[in-house]
Amino acid sequence: MPAIAKFVEDAGDDRLADLARTLFRPSGVDGVYARTGLYEGVVEALAALISSHRPADAEVFRFPPVMSRRQLEKHGYLKSFPNLLGCVSCLGGSEREIRAVVDRFEDGGEWTSALGAADLVLSPAACYPVYPIAAERGPVPAGGLTFDVASDCFRHEPSRDIDRFQSFRMREYVRIGAPEDIQAFRADWIERAKGIADRLGLPYRVDLASDPFFGRGGQIVAISQIQQELKFELLVPVRSEEAPTACMSFNYHREHFGHTWGLTMADGALAHTGCVAFGMDRLAVALFATHGTDVGAWPQGVRDALRL
Ligand code: 5GP
Ligand code: ZN
Repeated sequence: MPAIAKFVEDAGDDRLADLARTLFRPSGVDGVYARTGLYEGVVEALAALISSHRPADAEVFRFPPVMSRRQLEKHGYLKSFPNLLGCVSCLGGSEREIRAVVDRFEDGGEWTSALGAADLVLSPAACYPVYPIAAERGPVPAGGLTFDVASDCFRHEPSRDIDRFQSFRMREYVRIGAPEDIQAFRADWIERAKGIADRLGLPYRVDLASDPFFGRGGQIVAISQIQQELKFELLVPVRSEEAPTACMSFNYHREHFGHTWGLTMADGALAHTGCVAFGMDRLAVALFATHGTDVGAWPQGVRDALRL
């Protein structure tokens, strides 16, 4: 059976199957897709719309899809989400040793056991690399710091759902400063994000959320995250009303990254941090799921917002 037919059949829902067939092509791996020009045009338009909301003081960084393994270890990612992490691994050793591994493969044998972990991981979120960059500069200025960051992200959760990819694009605005500053930044961004969703004609609700912390111990961390109201999400019904899809998140990390990276304010207090994350692929899928695949027939207000 041709790969595309299988991909669509597996989607299990006719409406979403049609959508998937129009927007993506299968790669042979669940949750990793080739994106069509139609789809990518909307992703680019969304990026421009989000850029038009960039805070005036934001410093821009675009990160590669990989980041330092050492830095991510220091962030505590392995404790919280070890099951989601992808680590880059390569063949090492002499030419003779590498040749022996390749020969084994060519003879139909197994070769991946010869791989060794490189000093890189696949970035699981766009904002991780920015905190050490900020910390290098010394104390955070009284007015705080704002960043506009983006990267391709990887999370090891293979799925055939149209709203869960292993490899997806994330854009974030990040704020570093005093606690009340971060809380105000987040509250302001929740309102701004609702305005963006309104302009995009997306049905949504904003709700408290938790991250999928690993294991039984992780459930306790997730409950505490909800009690402290550290995460909100903007949810759009893509697959169903009952299980809406998180397309943006609004996160308050308290002093977690300040403590990890020695990020302090001028008075020596640990800096607090927060971020608003835009799931570019989920937002694009939500737009197509809501308005259909004929972009020319989308409501005029939505096309105006996206300049399409
Ligand atoms: P968070 O760090 O809050 O889990 O993720 C930030 C945003 O990235 C989410 O609100 C969502 O829009 C996007 N995102 C997270 N996981 C996935 C995923 O598996 N697939 C896609 N397409 N987007 C995701
Ligand atoms: Zn972030």
